[in-house]
Amino acid sequence: MSLDSADAVVVGGGVVGCSIAYHLARRGAEVVVVERDTLGSQSTGHCAGGVRRQFSSSTNVVMQQLSVQLLAGLEAETGVDPEFRHIGYLFVLTSDRQVEDFRRFLPMWHETGVTDARWLEPHEVRELAPLIQGDDILGGTFCPSDGIASPHAVTLAYSGAARRLGVKLLEGVTVDGIVQEAGRVQAVRTTAGEISATAVFNCAGAWAGEVGAMAGVDVPVKPYPRNIFVTNPMAEVSRRHPMTIDFATSFYFHPEGDGLLFGMGMPDEKPSFNTDVDWQVLDAMAEVIDRRAPRLGTAGIQTAWAGLYEMTPDHQPILGPVDGLEGFWCACGFSGHGFQQAPAVGYLLAQWFSGEQPQVPLDVFAHRRFATGNVEPENNVV
Ligand SMILES: Cc1cc2nc3c(=O)[nH]c(=O)nc-3n(C[C@H](O)[C@H](O)[C@H](O)COP(=O)(O)OP(=O)(O)OC[C@H]3O[C@@H](n4cnc5c(N)ncnc54)[C@H](O)[C@@H]3O)c2cc1C
Repeated sequence: MSLDSADAVVVGGGVVGCSIAYHLARRGAEVVVVERDTLGSQSTGHCAGGVRRQFSSSTNVVMQQLSVQLLAGLEAETGVDPEFRHIGYLFVLTSDRQVEDFRRFLPMWHETGVTDARWLEPHEVRELAPLIQGDDILGGTFCPSDGIASPHAVTLAYSGAARRLGVKLLEGVTVDGIVQEAGRVQAVRTTAGEISATAVFNCAGAWAGEVGAMAGVDVPVKPYPRNIFVTNPMAEVSRRHPMTIDFATSFYFHPEGDGLLFGMGMPDEKPSFNTDVDWQVLDAMAEVIDRRAPRLGTAGIQTAWAGLYEMTPDHQPILGPVDGLEGFWCACGFSGHGFQQAPAVGYLLAQWFSGEQPQVPLDVFAHRRFATGNVEPENNVV
């Protein structure tokens, strides 16, 4: 394959772009990945590593079932262990509305194959997550086979396997134009020259809107900075402590190294590409930490970083070809869940690109939903 032509150009070498490139190449496509920075250095490299199936949208649950299956086979397939630790995911619920919703989700999760998800009474929540406090806890849901995996390892697994299949992975190269003619993609312009291709995948994460604009396509993805803090060692906390989420506030934590990793969305978040750590977030979280997990507040902070969520209006990704510009595909707008969705998304879009029906129907993720209003919003966003 020459560098100046390909069957498909993937814009963005995060976990999503690498997964798509690998799965396309497995089916025989010639692929070039163009990454402005280094592979996995942006949202993927800033991610908390959570992998769960407890979503409100049944399509997301089914898609996540597939991702979990693919992660289970990743080492055999690529030689790289994704370091998936099944510590479980615990949602802590504190309002009648949440209890009603999550009790309704449970049968849906069971029907879609997440058979080990279960309801917990308040005392069971406290037993399972001893750091958690509060008389307002009404119950929780727990899925022991959910957990955390390594974004670095998964990206390496897909990029390495893709390279062995002949995929060209360009780092330090920026896409700055999409060439089109008569409603079809013809080529991708980059700082290293033009690559002729009749398909381009927009996997540009928080920058997907900019790449959409290069093609004249409105891709409604906005960047929202999120901060992560890691505490000093907390020897008394089990390394098997579940990923725990206070659903009302989105405050979450899980074991990381010898300490705990934690974060929270802020109610007044504004779109921005700024990834400097915002220490005021820690002040704003103090009240929640004090009320929900006070021991965590006394551990001290070992390190912190910030990355970008890539939000869409309905908190669902945009997947598949876009109407009006043949050959322009989107895999973006993961709204904070792209790491765990990347294995399934790569697999399903490669099925679709090869002319097969994707084994999970992807209609709810179509770009056209913003015009037709055919949306199935995701509510379990953390
Ligand atoms: C703090 C935090 C915690 C998170 N926790 C979780 C979690 O627990 N579980 C989970 O599933 N998800 C989580 N996420 C979300 C997850 O990290 C993202 O959804 C996922 O990494 C998206 O992957 P991506 O490949 O689409 O994006 P990215 O990793 O951002 O990759 C996009 C790439 O495109 C490149 N690019 C952009 N524009 C251009 C251009 N013009 N030319 C060339 N290259 C370009 C960028 O340099 C970038 O490397 C978290 C995110 C953050 C910030």
